[in-house]
Amino acid sequence: MDARKPRNEAKRLEALHSYVILDSAAEQAYDDIVNLASYICDAPMALITLIDEDRQWFKARVGVDILQTPRGDAFCAHAILDPHEVMQVQDTSLDPRFSENPLVTADPNIRFYAGAPLVTSSGAALGTVCVADRVPRTLEPRMVDALKALSRQVVSLLQLRHSLAELKLLSDAQQHRQKQLEGYQKRLEDLNLVLVEQNTTDPLTGLKNRRAFDRILNEESSRTERSHSSLALAIIDVDHFKSFNDEFGHVAGDEALQQVSLMLQSHARAYDHAARYGGEEFAVILPDTRIDACMVVAERIRRAVQEFDWRHRPITISVGVATTTSANGTMNLVERADRALYEAKRKGRNCVVHLGDAAVFVP
Ligand code: GH3
Ligand code: MG
Ligand code: MG
Repeated sequence: MDARKPRNEAKRLEALHSYVILDSAAEQAYDDIVNLASYICDAPMALITLIDEDRQWFKARVGVDILQTPRGDAFCAHAILDPHEVMQVQDTSLDPRFSENPLVTADPNIRFYAGAPLVTSSGAALGTVCVADRVPRTLEPRMVDALKALSRQVVSLLQLRHSLAELKLLSDAQQHRQKQLEGYQKRLEDLNLVLVEQNTTDPLTGLKNRRAFDRILNEESSRTERSHSSLALAIIDVDHFKSFNDEFGHVAGDEALQQVSLMLQSHARAYDHAARYGGEEFAVILPDTRIDACMVVAERIRRAVQEFDWRHRPITISVGVATTTSANGTMNLVERADRALYEAKRKGRNCVVHLGDAAVFVP
């Protein structure tokens, strides 16, 4: 005879499924409990059963080969109807609920059954710890108590499993959030790099801007003083550029400035720093460079500009050069280069001037 459904059946099933235990692998802790139940109750069969919607499934079993039965055949489906009692059936052949049950009439030929419901803290009876025998009998009171104690142990194990599963969910969520945060962090860093780059690059020419020039000059000055080496600076100004703009327009002027920048980059050395100093003025910082080598680089750039096949009219540059000296060190490098540039303009432009040792290149 099928057992009626408990009044809290929907909640009971929800609780059962929340443990994610149905069809799980055998576990020693549960096996130990059925062995203890069998031993204490001196019964050949002992089971931990869970009553699913249409079946009873055995989490652990001793003396029984099958893994599950239809719910209609389950003694335990009757036992869970009174969650606080150990249900005993002294002789199944005399009980109209079970006399025709296939577990009674055929293998494993159950004649005696006792089941202690597994009751969660919220009152859901999930199944039982039960024992069975092939002969009619009853349990002694100490056995009933032991069966109840074992059912409480199973519930503790289930609750532990629940807590572990929740902990894992939390830890997975935490890891997911951590990964997201790392992603955001990376994007911020990338954006920051772009901003820093934009902040240090002159948009027209792609050269370092004045801000980057100031920083690099500072760094190179400090490094030069620490290493007692020599630092050189060339300031470059496009000659008569106002009239070029007036004559050929601002766009042509922009293109000319871009072309000058390209020549600066290709004729300076790989470790020199070319920058747009302002308007039509450029600067090249030449680390570890003495005056002779600096003059060679500056002259190379000057000649390249002069010899370039300009579209509208020839363009030339004037260059003022300064280097570290024993008197000044790296002090006033910009002012000294500026003064040299002024001198180059005064001398008639299209030349490189260094004031310190009066080395002057005039083509
Ligand atoms: P000098 O030979 O003495 O250097 O004369 P100059 O005409 O080159 O010098 P001046 O300082 O009188 O004029 C510089 C000109 O550079 C004025 C300005 O129109 C032009 N200029 C500055 N920045 C830019 C720019 O970004 N694009 C263009 N097209 N022209 C610029
Ligand atoms: Mg100028
Ligand atoms: Mg100029």
